[in-house]
Amino acid sequence: MEKILNYINGELTAPKSGDYFDNYNPSDGQVYSLVPDSDAADIDLAVKAAQDAFPAWSSMPKEKRCDLILKVVEKLEASSEMLVAAESKDNGKPEWLARMVDIPRASANLKFFATASLHFASETHDMDGMALNYTLRKPIGVAGCISPWNLPLYLLTWKIAPALAAGNTVVAKPSEITPMTAFLLSKICIEAGLPKGVLNIVHGYGNKVGDALIRHPDTPVISFTGGTVTGAHIAKTAGPMFKKLSLELGGKNPNIVFADADLDKAVATSVKASFTNQGQICLCGSRLYVQQEIYEAFKTAFIAKSAELVVGDPKEEGSNLGAVVSKEHMEKILAKIEEAKAEGGKVLLGGKRILLEGDLKDGYYIGPTILEGLKADCITNQEEIFGPVVTISPFETEEEVIALANSTKYGLSASIFTENLSKAHRVAAAIDSGIVWINTWLLRDLRTPFGGMKNSGVGREGGFKSLQFFTEEKNVCLKI
Ligand code: NAD
Repeated sequence: MEKILNYINGELTAPKSGDYFDNYNPSDGQVYSLVPDSDAADIDLAVKAAQDAFPAWSSMPKEKRCDLILKVVEKLEASSEMLVAAESKDNGKPEWLARMVDIPRASANLKFFATASLHFASETHDMDGMALNYTLRKPIGVAGCISPWNLPLYLLTWKIAPALAAGNTVVAKPSEITPMTAFLLSKICIEAGLPKGVLNIVHGYGNKVGDALIRHPDTPVISFTGGTVTGAHIAKTAGPMFKKLSLELGGKNPNIVFADADLDKAVATSVKASFTNQGQICLCGSRLYVQQEIYEAFKTAFIAKSAELVVGDPKEEGSNLGAVVSKEHMEKILAKIEEAKAEGGKVLLGGKRILLEGDLKDGYYIGPTILEGLKADCITNQEEIFGPVVTISPFETEEEVIALANSTKYGLSASIFTENLSKAHRVAAAIDSGIVWINTWLLRDLRTPFGGMKNSGVGREGGFKSLQFFTEEKNVCLKI
């Protein structure tokens, strides 16, 4: 069975402990590779390698750093079909989705930040000719980058690309549930000639190797994407060490459809927002609020379109949904559906595990699930489920739906559907979330600020904001 290896100091290495754990293919429920059960000893080695590489990497002309990252992109793009197959096998997502979104976006992240670093500039503040202040921005040191399983290579590269482009060296910790494409990326970096120690990837459990990374005294900057509970733990641990922290956390995003919306477009986009990647995107709309006048018409069309979605073999082009990421996660989602029923929710569609046949009979499949009749303050409408599960509720007024949208502890994203421009802008401004889409969902420009309010995170990533995060500012004041 294939053993995944750590990538430390330019080499593929076994964990110091020699221990591994099983890696499952969610589409058939079978173990297909082994993940290093790394610990603090491996993190020590990786941080040391990254520290040793820092002086040369951080002082290298940015054009040269950019070229070296673009060499990785070239190799990554040449291996894209292999990465598509690997991402789908490791995560359960349909291959077409990995081909359309995950892998192109991984390469786009690396290209975007490598080239953005060439345009990155700092400010001067002229004190009316009496003095001049200028801001220096320097790379910080060894960046710790921790990423989740839902968009494995996409989110790993979203962190390591700006960290490296800004001149830091990196120790990355991918999700233990989906480590394969990070392992393949380490092979690609070796082939591409990325200098040793610049990027290190250590695999293993979050509470062991992730924890060692955030506690390490020589990782002054930590970028984390994952669950809110883990984010709180990281903040509690790294905060008193005065580390620079970026936290991208969970969401419970509202999807608001006004009576004057283009119904067909609102239905089609809401289906995507609810069920893409089996609902396992932090930005998925999991609370649908539909204005009373069109509630029944929208509901009927939304159920009909969702019922057409095919749940099946991730390798098949015709499968709209693949498997959810793990047995534990499937059981958690199914338990949440039972909890919703106990809270008075009516299942309009789905609500069950789907058993496929043949080789896929043990895979982790759940059909698109629509729940109705749940109060705004119930657990189902308050807690993130992170699966193909959406609630639908009617509303009457603009004020009412703004209050509903803002009624959770989260504030990551929202979608609004209306043909009334003034209303769209008014509601967008009133919703407490870091991202608002009007008449669309998941349309991303990598230059824009990305992140959440309230319990959805701290800080913003994207464009120059990521490069600012991964650099330390210093003001120099010169008296003239
Ligand atoms: P998770 O918090 O369980 O794990 C995320 C990463 O943190 C993994 O690599 C894990 O090993 C590591 N980790 C776990 N415990 C740790 C610890 N004590 N110290 C250090 N690292 C630790 O999250 P997940 O289940 O992998 O991902 C799903 C969550 O991620 C959802 O809540 C989702 O909304 C969120 N998410 C947010 C965004 C965003 O941009 N806001 C994007 C994608 C996913």
